[in-house]
Amino acid sequence: MPGVARKTANIVLYHGYGVTAGVAVDTHVMRLSQRLGLTAQKDQNKIEQDLMAITPKDKWMPLTDLLIFHGRQVCMAKNPQCAACVLNKICPSAFTFK
Ligand code: SF4
Repeated sequence: MPGVARKTANIVLYHGYGVTAGVAVDTHVMRLSQRLGLTAQKDQNKIEQDLMAITPKDKWMPLTDLLIFHGRQVCMAKNPQCAACVLNKICPSAFTFK
């Protein structure tokens, strides 16, 4: 989609046309991917490549939605709720925030 960033294009293609083209990396997906150790990258496109490499294609957009939801509800940028997080036993960043 010319003139549209990958994140927006991925969301529009999936929700508007049922086409899975990638993982939509917004601020929540970026933060969660890094905290969970799914990527060491800082660039959105590189993070997307890392996530696509470890996730089946039919799970790319469900992964996007799950990471965004978890980032909004539990793993916020400030004061992540590690004690209440279902991932706290496997997350390398659990309880590292003050
Ligand atoms: S354990 Fe903490 S840092 Fe890890 S995903 Fe859960 S809330 Fe985020």
